[in-house]
Amino acid sequence: MTDHACIFCRILKGEIPSRQILEDGVGVAIHDVNPQAPFHAIVIARRHVPDVASLIAVDGEGSIAGNLMKMAVKVAQEAGLSAKGYRLVINTGEFGGQTVDHLHIHVLGGRQMLWPPG
Ligand code: 5GP
Ligand code: ZN
Repeated sequence: MTDHACIFCRILKGEIPSRQILEDGVGVAIHDVNPQAPFHAIVIARRHVPDVASLIAVDGEGSIAGNLMKMAVKVAQEAGLSAKGYRLVINTGEFGGQTVDHLHIHVLGGRQMLWPPG
């Protein structure tokens, strides 16, 4: 299940280079090309799921959601972010600020995050 126009599908196929951190059968974690914090990774679903809302239809057992979330936590732990804390973000749709329509979790850390977010 690949969208040939999708930048993350192209990264997953190796057509676009990325700095990989972790991978398993469900997801791949890479460094974000435009980091918004001292540490900024994205955990990308291997399957081309457009957004988190689509999981309701395609992820009945919750294994995609659960696996990606656990990988995001593992990435944060391995980056040494656990002691001070970090932020996981899933942007959804236009108002959510989503720019790539392929499910991914941001892992942001290394600085104080603000609330409310911009
Ligand atoms: P969104 O705005 O959809 O929540 O997040 C998309 C993220 O993907 C952005 O943080 C953006 O910097 C990142 N991104 C877009 N294109 C690429 C790319 O080609 N390589 C990597 N590593 N990250 C990308
Ligand atoms: Zn895709």
